[in-house]
Amino acid sequence: MRITVAGLGVSGISAARALAGLGAVVTVVDGGDSGTHRERAAELAEEGISVRLGDAETLPEGTGLVVTSPGWKPDSPLFAAAAEAGVDVVGDVEIAWRLRGENAAPWLAITGTNGKTTTTQMLASILRAAGLRTAAVGNIGTPIVDVVLGEETYGDLDVLAVELSSYQLHWAPSLRAHSAAVLNLAPDHLDWHGSMEAYAADKGRIYEGNTVACVYNVADPATEDLVREADVEEGCRAIGFTLGSPGPSQLGVVDGILVDRAFVANRQKNAQELAEVADVNPPAPHNIANALAAAALARAFGVEPKAVRDGLRAFRPDAHRIAHVADVEGVAYVDDSKATNTHAAEASLAAYEPIVWIAGGLAKGASFDELVQRSAKRLRGVVLIGAERHLIAEALARHAPEVPVVDVERTDTGAMSEAVRAAAGLAKPGDTVLLAPACASMDMFTNYNKRGEAFAEAVRGLAAERA
Ligand code: ADP
Repeated sequence: MRITVAGLGVSGISAARALAGLGAVVTVVDGGDSGTHRERAAELAEEGISVRLGDAETLPEGTGLVVTSPGWKPDSPLFAAAAEAGVDVVGDVEIAWRLRGENAAPWLAITGTNGKTTTTQMLASILRAAGLRTAAVGNIGTPIVDVVLGEETYGDLDVLAVELSSYQLHWAPSLRAHSAAVLNLAPDHLDWHGSMEAYAADKGRIYEGNTVACVYNVADPATEDLVREADVEEGCRAIGFTLGSPGPSQLGVVDGILVDRAFVANRQKNAQELAEVADVNPPAPHNIANALAAAALARAFGVEPKAVRDGLRAFRPDAHRIAHVADVEGVAYVDDSKATNTHAAEASLAAYEPIVWIAGGLAKGASFDELVQRSAKRLRGVVLIGAERHLIAEALARHAPEVPVVDVERTDTGAMSEAVRAAAGLAKPGDTVLLAPACASMDMFTNYNKRGEAFAEAVRGLAAERA
């Protein structure tokens, strides 16, 4: 079969190699034509994979299938050309799904606007604590096609914890997970999907064909709507998670205990203790929600309560996700550089009080009014950084004019230490200085990792000075 792979990036290259390895005739197309592109093309050519640079629009002659990469929008001309020629367009997840062998490990799948990586890793930790052989894959770690084709690894796995982005779901029509969770739904990536409805519909595909459980967020009714609309296997159950006391068929929290009223005998009367809130790392509200979702999927797979507790205790979040950096003069400094949209920032702002909030960067078209309105009462002060900081300043002026704001005008690399110093000036002992920018970082930093590192370095500098 002649397959065209769109995009000469990490996922495109891995798909191209995997498909060529299976005997397909592969052409990778990419609109770029830089030195790096040519180097990669030369490398692939040696493996018998052709690469066409400088044209991302026309469909190579004889193409029988197009495999996409995440950055390509659904309205890309190449896909229009494919549709016209009656050729299917699929993503890496669809390829992995179609290529997985018989008796392959079932997939426990996770999506949502925020919390995907954390929840997927929590789930993998719980599954490991239960003695199961597993891997966290999908939108994280090794490309999923490589994992599925890696005989030694995949053949030995009992179950996969799969993080799926809305892009991946859009292009994975035949995926059928054992069980799946949608953590939350807030506007994000709308430029890619075209509308909130289209974005939600793509997220909702994760529930299609589930066999045991569709896990939804009780506090986010849009996720439950998606369950209702999904076509699932006979006997598959809708399971809610809530930070409140759980009803039947839900997991929730009672007196600081995570409890299960879904996977127990006689759920009208019984509840099963799973873990304590203090077992969740960090025990911020949104993260307890993540833990409940992970627990629900693990329980759907038959994992015992004790493994849920042990797995949550063993879990350590990735860097820059509510990471406690240091205490300086009684003030805690917390790095949530990964809070790159308002929904994520709101979750971390809800976890502390009083807060000196460091925010700003690239807004990606977002509005900050609701975030500021809901968080205003927790704010001791705000320090604004980055290219579009005026948008947050305006929202603060509208909804929280009493909160002091320091505007850091410079946008060079020294800006972060100025911001941290300004935050220290506003904070009182017992406060938290929280970097939760609600914005992307690329105006000032290579990525959110670099932004978080700059923050941590500035905090360490401050600590050394004040010691
Ligand atoms: P994703 O993989 O979906 O980007 P992460 O687990 O990397 O999610 O978390 C990204 C950021 O989103 C975190 O730093 C935190 O600010 C926020 N976050 C995590 N879980 C949630 C949640 N359940 N609801 C809202 N925000 C969350």
